[in-house]
Amino acid sequence: MKSIDQIELSGKKLFIRADFNVPLDEQRHITDDNRIRMVLPTLEYALKQGASLVLASHAGRPKGKPDPKFTLKPVAERLSELLGRSVILAPDCIGAETQDVVSAMKPGDIVLLENLRFHPGETGDDPEFARQLAMGCDAYINDAFGVSHRSHASVSAVTRFFKEKAAGLLMKRELDYFHRSMEYPERPLVALIGGAKVTDKLAVLENLLRNVDTLIVGGAMANTFLRAQGFATGRSLVEEDMISKAAELMEQARQAGKRFYVPVDAVVGKEPDATTATRIAAIQEIPGDFMILDIGPATSLLYSEALKGARTIIWNGPMGVFELEPFSKGTYAVMDAVADSGALTIIGGGDTGLAVHRAGKEADMSFISTGGGAFLTLLEGKTLPGVAALGS
Ligand code: AMP
Repeated sequence: MKSIDQIELSGKKLFIRADFNVPLDEQRHITDDNRIRMVLPTLEYALKQGASLVLASHAGRPKGKPDPKFTLKPVAERLSELLGRSVILAPDCIGAETQDVVSAMKPGDIVLLENLRFHPGETGDDPEFARQLAMGCDAYINDAFGVSHRSHASVSAVTRFFKEKAAGLLMKRELDYFHRSMEYPERPLVALIGGAKVTDKLAVLENLLRNVDTLIVGGAMANTFLRAQGFATGRSLVEEDMISKAAELMEQARQAGKRFYVPVDAVVGKEPDATTATRIAAIQEIPGDFMILDIGPATSLLYSEALKGARTIIWNGPMGVFELEPFSKGTYAVMDAVADSGALTIIGGGDTGLAVHRAGKEADMSFISTGGGAFLTLLEGKTLPGVAALGS
């Protein structure tokens, strides 16, 4: 796979797939422009090399037809502010009118195509839609790590219409950090995995167990492991059909000589609600009418100690219902431990990235991935379709 700094850009019209799917409020103001900012180094580099830029992204789920609610207009405006240059929003992402706008571009010009998902061909990986997207452009750059786990036209089929294709700088950073953490890590390598379900992350847990020295589990998924150890978990979320699989994973870890941590205490509540009655309970004493909603203070201490000796840490998934203050302490306590560890720290996107941003701890982490699903796909040991499409 080539990266953007390995191809000649001068005078070329680049088709750049970015992930500008930013959160908006009800008035369609951007509430967090991190995804736009993360792509700026690629755009600035390409402009400096004398290229013109045709930018493409999806936003939301407009169901394959134009819907003004999902226009990329707010992105065009923010991008223009951030780059200090004008950014033209094309009327669509394909079609005669858009082609006219692209044809008229001069070096240094920036055109943002309208939402790719205004056409069903995008999610359908349709070659004809992809051919139209590629029209008039000389080279293809994928800087949209966050969507590269999906075989969509703008990351997959479109690459067939370009001789020259490369990863953008953000994509390169994402993959570099992943390789540094999973393929040739400084050890001990510790993975901290939380979140809702074992089912969602089973392939991740299996693959991590092959690579890590220590696996630490939190969040609702830990409940299933606790049940596998024979503890009663009251009204907590438990995947009954995964209990035997959880037992198998722990046995696999034991046989491979890996450390496997599960909670020793919990913050329990009657309901996942900010005003519910809460208690701290040892894992042996979970009251029958309560739910485990966060790791407890003893577990936070124990996990923080376990993270201290790490040289590389991979973290994905909260330790509890961190969205609610009474159940957020575990997630923030382990976050502090990750931040203070001195290890190379790679944070998976989605909820975990959000929690780090909320705590203002971005600068304390080595890297926060911009992809939730894509990050998990890599952790499963799979190649991303969007990366495979860039060739070797
Ligand atoms: P995931 O998308 O798998 O990373 O799961 C994140 C979600 O898991 C968050 O919305 C949390 O509120 C939720 N979660 C974490 N711990 C618990 C728990 N003990 N009980 C219920 N939900 C939880």
